[in-house]
Amino acid sequence: MTFEQMNLHQSIKSAIRQSGYENPTEIQANAIPYLLEGRDMLGSAQTGTGKTAAFALPIIHHVEKRMTSGRKRLPTALILAPTRELALQIKESFDTYSSKNQVKAIAIYGGVPKRNQIIKLKRGVDILIATPGRLLDLLEMKIVRLNAINHFVLDEADQMLDMGFIDDVNKIIAHLPENRQSMLFSATIPKPIVLLSQRILTNPVRVEVIADNTPLKTVEQSVCFVDKSSKINLLKDILKQDTTTSALVFVRTKSGCNRIVKQLLDNGIAADAIHGNKTQIQRQKALNKFKANETSVLVATDVAARGIDINALSHVINYDMPEKPETYLHRIGRTARAGKLGSALSFCSPEENHLLKAIQKHIDMRIAVDATHSYIQKNTQKTNQRSPQNRSGQPRHTKQKSVNFSTKKPNDTQRKKREKYTAETADSFRNTARKRTKNYGKKRRNFSPQGGY
Ligand code: AMP
Repeated sequence: MTFEQMNLHQSIKSAIRQSGYENPTEIQANAIPYLLEGRDMLGSAQTGTGKTAAFALPIIHHVEKRMTSGRKRLPTALILAPTRELALQIKESFDTYSSKNQVKAIAIYGGVPKRNQIIKLKRGVDILIATPGRLLDLLEMKIVRLNAINHFVLDEADQMLDMGFIDDVNKIIAHLPENRQSMLFSATIPKPIVLLSQRILTNPVRVEVIADNTPLKTVEQSVCFVDKSSKINLLKDILKQDTTTSALVFVRTKSGCNRIVKQLLDNGIAADAIHGNKTQIQRQKALNKFKANETSVLVATDVAARGIDINALSHVINYDMPEKPETYLHRIGRTARAGKLGSALSFCSPEENHLLKAIQKHIDMRIAVDATHSYIQKNTQKTNQRSPQNRSGQPRHTKQKSVNFSTKKPNDTQRKKREKYTAETADSFRNTARKRTKNYGKKRRNFSPQGGY
């Protein structure tokens, strides 16, 4: 099905053409016809699949159809998102798709003064995109009324739960009219999401997008075994390579983010940080500068792991391994978006090996080892070295081998074996990496400047 064949307003089709979208993505083709009919939906889809337009286009269509000019408008659609960045990004998408009509959207999120948001709300708006905390504040102040909401979207529902927003979400839902269209989107559908969906959705259509455009197939993944103390030097080396044009570096703690940014700046590398202790204005400024290529490195906690759409991101670097295996997919999914190429490098210290094991089990894939860097651990790890990730991206379905991080001194025979093994595997990996770099260069040269890095 093409966009032209969909029963969307001409104004929306014209905006889509202007965005350069040729065909609907899988989730759009599957979801839009049902959402235009007014059905409820339970969608399991990662970000990067075109999920936002899948719900935004039908909502704009419904709102435009019902719009009456002249009088002050109450919001008729509400989209709840877990983070401020995601709320702003969704708002930008709504603005793009309704650029040819009068449908008006605003984003409401915490961390900035309420004043501007209140002024905009009072002027009248059709679509509210909000994070739960600020929306509740404004509801309690009676600045916002949700009694005219016809369309409700709960986006990234599993992250909402993870971030402890469930009580806020429930309180907000209590303000919505019973008679409405509801959509719930979530990257994963664990039991609590099933229960939540049963409460808020009526006879929903279930839409699922898996496999083809998951990061596992599009992102070139590798792991660097490195001692914790050498991670910063390894990071600097990687950031200085020509192929690293823009990198998002994930770090576990806020203080870690700040420390790394300082060290990079001291070394002449333009970097900025995004984490929960930064004000919203600082976070947005950092993101905008990064998107505009004014800084090439953004160091972030997992607040930036979900949803954020950064065009032309060449590398995701897991400076610290993610604590939860699912977070790995969210993080690496920030690169290689909308058909582009991307690399994800994970720095794994001996203390983090159990996290690597859990990730590999979760993705059912062995991540290739990059043994070419200068900071390889003294006790070179055997795990991952025998069979690098299947280059076609197919999961290997091999069992994870246990890793021995023994600190005991090896005896002579063990030492000889280890040296031989290390030399052979390092050679073999150097060759693989060389080939890979060559092919990567080729791929990049073939890439169009508009779509490339
Ligand atoms: P999302 O999954 O909503 O975050 O979208 C990921 C990216 O895909 C965004 O940059 C969108 O602008 C882009 N996108 C969405 N739909 C299409 C489409 N039909 N064709 C091309 N790009 C799209």
